[in-house]
Amino acid sequence: MTNRSTIASLFRDSPLVIASHNKGKVKEIGELISKLNIRVISATEANIDEPEETGDSFAENATLKSEYSAQKTWLPALSDDSGLVVPAIGGAPGIYSARWAGPDKNFAMAFDRIQKELGDLPANAYFVCVLSLSIPTTFSKELAGNHLFEGRIDGSLVFPPIGEKGFGYDPIFIPEGHSETFAQLEPEYKNSISHRSRAFSKFLQFLREHQ
Ligand code: IMP
Repeated sequence: MTNRSTIASLFRDSPLVIASHNKGKVKEIGELISKLNIRVISATEANIDEPEETGDSFAENATLKSEYSAQKTWLPALSDDSGLVVPAIGGAPGIYSARWAGPDKNFAMAFDRIQKELGDLPANAYFVCVLSLSIPTTFSKELAGNHLFEGRIDGSLVFPPIGEKGFGYDPIFIPEGHSETFAQLEPEYKNSISHRSRAFSKFLQFLREHQ
């Protein structure tokens, strides 16, 4: 390895492991970074499981996942963790966003719970996405360690839910400066302003800076 490790040299012969078994996520990430000539493989293809998400924050959980995959494969690994934060109810559902909907992904139940806990409290909320890139020391001394990229979009909650597009908490979230929920907006537009795309922009910027 040369003294100055670049992303290009880092990924010349090796893929980036996407620390997820979610095919949709792996595909989305693969498409986003395909322009940079980086090959990606999923945790499933790399034959690794996922660790338990025992962290207290999005950053901790994202880090847990990418570090786990990097340690198991000795390859650079990327993970993400995301959710909805409602400050007036202590930041809930936050890192438990998926769990509030239960194993059946019953978001109507999660919406009811938020509405009940919120009562007349302020309905401002935001979505967060944290991407974590773990680079093993054996791979690159200069870039070794963990790199975090956070994206956030502010807005407010509306009850009852409105809109059929999108997924998860989209029908109760109106992004700032808009009058429609994420579930009413065109997915392409939503994806261009979302917490996830903001985190990805920072990640892509990091890759470009080290090309
Ligand atoms: P995870 O990061 O895949 O664990 O997802 C966390 C949970 O946050 C998901 O199950 C969704 O419920 C919620 N979430 C994350 N991003 C969005 C979004 O863009 N719209 C709606 N819900 C989201």
